[in-house]
Amino acid sequence: MDRLGVALLNNVSIMKSGVTRYAVYGVLIALSAIVLATLLSSQYLYGGINLENIVTAQKNNSTLWILDGMPFIFAFWGQYVSSAIALQASTMVLDQTHELRNQAVALEYQVMHDATHDSLTDLPNRVLLLDRLDQAIYVAFREKQSLALFILDLDHFKEINDTLGHHSGDQVLKHVALRLQGVVRESETLARLGGDEFAIMIPLIKERELNYVQLVIEKIQNAFKSPFVVGGLRLDVQASIGIAIFPEHGKDIDTIMQRADVAMYVAKQNNDSFAIYSPDLDKHTPKRLTLMGALRQAIENGDLVLHYQPKINIKTNSISGVEALVRWQHEEHGLLPPIEFIPLAERTGLHTQLFFWVIKTALAQAEQWYNNDLKTNISVNLSPSTLLDADLPDVITGLLASSNVPANYITFEITEGSIIKDPDRAMEVLVRLAKMGINISIDDFGTGYSSLAYLKKMPASELKIDQSFVQDMLKNENDEVIVRSTIDLAHNMGLKVVAEGVEEKEIVARLKLLGCDIIQGFYYSTPLTGKDCTDWIRSYALENKDNIKTG
Ligand code: C2E
Ligand code: CA
Ligand code: CA
Repeated sequence: MDRLGVALLNNVSIMKSGVTRYAVYGVLIALSAIVLATLLSSQYLYGGINLENIVTAQKNNSTLWILDGMPFIFAFWGQYVSSAIALQASTMVLDQTHELRNQAVALEYQVMHDATHDSLTDLPNRVLLLDRLDQAIYVAFREKQSLALFILDLDHFKEINDTLGHHSGDQVLKHVALRLQGVVRESETLARLGGDEFAIMIPLIKERELNYVQLVIEKIQNAFKSPFVVGGLRLDVQASIGIAIFPEHGKDIDTIMQRADVAMYVAKQNNDSFAIYSPDLDKHTPKRLTLMGALRQAIENGDLVLHYQPKINIKTNSISGVEALVRWQHEEHGLLPPIEFIPLAERTGLHTQLFFWVIKTALAQAEQWYNNDLKTNISVNLSPSTLLDADLPDVITGLLASSNVPANYITFEITEGSIIKDPDRAMEVLVRLAKMGINISIDDFGTGYSSLAYLKKMPASELKIDQSFVQDMLKNENDEVIVRSTIDLAHNMGLKVVAEGVEEKEIVARLKLLGCDIIQGFYYSTPLTGKDCTDWIRSYALENKDNIKTG
């Protein structure tokens, strides 16, 4: 018998003992009734209460005989009813438990499915594709076979979205998914990578690989031949296809993905419907595409560095904190700014690894300052996908537990866009982080589509006005209005305001007048290496006789 069975038996005996207790009360009441009736009849029928009269009353009075039977009836009835009720209840509980179990299994399945599938088309998502690609490469390597990765990007899809709206765009994507499903076989994987990008992974038999690749290209081209009908309109949609083959073009997932991407890019540039990767294509592709394969290596080899840019509280002339900004020290291209590889990390699913490196490095720096009496708050940028990662709060809890820096020395900067993507989930993660004591800052404010409703609900303590408004505010009246009203709005919501990208003295003065709290920009300092920033903090503190408060 399993644990559930034992628990059920226990419940049955608890219920039985409950009912039995009431049956015992019944027996006791019946016994008291017999005693009372016997005493009354010996008193009134036989002239007094004594043993002889009691015996006579019991012998001659037939009503008392019926009463005498009552305790037995109660006892029997109690036993019977208790068993029946207990049995009935236990079957009910059993049924409900099974139902709950089934629901839990279905829910678990749903969660697994959602994590690995695209919600619009229900196709496998990037995560599942990368996982299958990893396994397929392993099998192909062992069996000495090959495999092909196709990356498809729809042409001019942005125009459809912009002119007909997102709903029509979504309809097109659904139709494309359905048509492509007809192209792939059971052993092949069709996935949506995001946006208007799809991928097909095909295990190949080496001897026939090129023939089969050619056949799939033709099938895809045929699938796009007839127009897509959306909202009564007939739309001609085409795709650019890039193909890379394992092991010929790459021996690991990153390289294969990157090379299929390069081929797709070249096909699109040349207005060709497809291109198969070859090394000379690299010459015509932007640096970012050739960097893709190397990013994972860079993270693992420690080729990334964090620079820190001070933020000055202009009301107290103290250092309010520093923002950690990542760079890639590339042996060929020099120090690469984040714009060259952060989007790449997002596309290749490397953002988690990258974030982990950044937060660990930033915490180590914060700890060093904290232990050397230079206690400074460090802001770390969170990409949209990192914010939506439900594991984030646990990961951070773990990291904070092994550091002696208190949580309130850490700030996470998030953009409005990352909240709009999935507001409920983002809010849940943010609330958990804020409860841990981490500060939340709204970055690049003014560039996204913030809804005031969300802003109000967000557990943020800081708002950063995007540098595009700050830099032109003296020349452009609109920008000044935006800066001024953002400062007022933020203050009304109890948030501190940071102006970013401040390069000139006159802007500092103007911002002071408008009531801005904190300034960050080249006027005070460019982002500095950890060592240089330490020196900067020391000398700023000396000059301003500041004891380096944070906040
Ligand atoms: P951001 O969060 O808005 O960071 C501020 C950017 O403005 C930085 O560029 C900084 O160097 C630059 N900046 C600061 N003061 C001035 C100024 O006075 N004038 C001008 N012209 N620029 C100034 P950077 O370091 O190139 O970073 C660009 C973006 O990359 C960041 O924008 C942020 O969105 C992203 N990023 C940086 N590090 C990380 C990271 O570790 N993780 C993630 N997910 N994103 C990061
Ligand atoms: Ca930032
Ligand atoms: Ca910013």
